[in-house]
Amino acid sequence: MKKQSKSFFITLASITLLIGCATNTLTHRSELSLVSDEEMMTTAASQYKQFLSTNKVVSNNSGSKDAAMVGKVSNKIIAAVKQYYADLGRSSELDGYAWEVNTVVSNEANAWCMPGGKIVVYTGLLPITQNEASLAVVIGHEVTHALAKHGKERMSQGLIQQFGGQVLTAALANKPTETQQLFGTAFGLGTQYGIMLPFSRKDEYEADRYGLVFTALAGYDPHEAINFWQRMEKFAGSQKPPEFVSTHPSDENRIAQLQSVMDETVAKYYHPQAQH
Ligand SMILES: [Zn+2]
Repeated sequence: MKKQSKSFFITLASITLLIGCATNTLTHRSELSLVSDEEMMTTAASQYKQFLSTNKVVSNNSGSKDAAMVGKVSNKIIAAVKQYYADLGRSSELDGYAWEVNTVVSNEANAWCMPGGKIVVYTGLLPITQNEASLAVVIGHEVTHALAKHGKERMSQGLIQQFGGQVLTAALANKPTETQQLFGTAFGLGTQYGIMLPFSRKDEYEADRYGLVFTALAGYDPHEAINFWQRMEKFAGSQKPPEFVSTHPSDENRIAQLQSVMDETVAKYYHPQAQH
């Protein structure tokens, strides 16, 4: 009896070790790693390519002011992320990231970032963001979901629930359509993939929190986040909300939470004069 319980704990400990060795820089949590980062990035790259080939992309060379703005703001956020990780001596965590940014024509007010830094902004979002700083708030939020591996956690949970814990490559080989749908819902790809799984309240707060940090580090006034969420609150009443409002935190709670970290974020990360 005693022996049995001892071996049970040893087994439990080794399982914990297996799934919990890497600690994420942003969340300080061990990652649920049923899917490897490499698998996620490879799948993301091919899903991203497929998404772009079946949607109308605004070419960066088309002279579109919208696409130019999305590119400019995204690149500043990406630079801020790299700086943040470098300052912590954890740049290696970004190994394997092949950042890419595209603007897609759609009435949907949405944006997302897949593992490995594959970003899409829908043109339907721009009338609500209205300025670069607000767009930075949204892109910072979406990039945080990717960096914090929120989608990867949901993907792992989905593989357990729907595929009995199959690894991603096996699930893709056995049930490609269902697996791709699962991937789409795990990363907020939007209505074309059917029902969107909301991120948890905890995930949303983390995305808001670090989205604000990256916005400030990119040289944009983080206070703009408050104005943006107030506009989004009005918009969300009028149509089906996108990833970043379809979730638990009400805009009121979200704004209160952002206010509570605003002064600290500004003092620590917002130094626009030092930018150029
Ligand atoms: Zn979100």
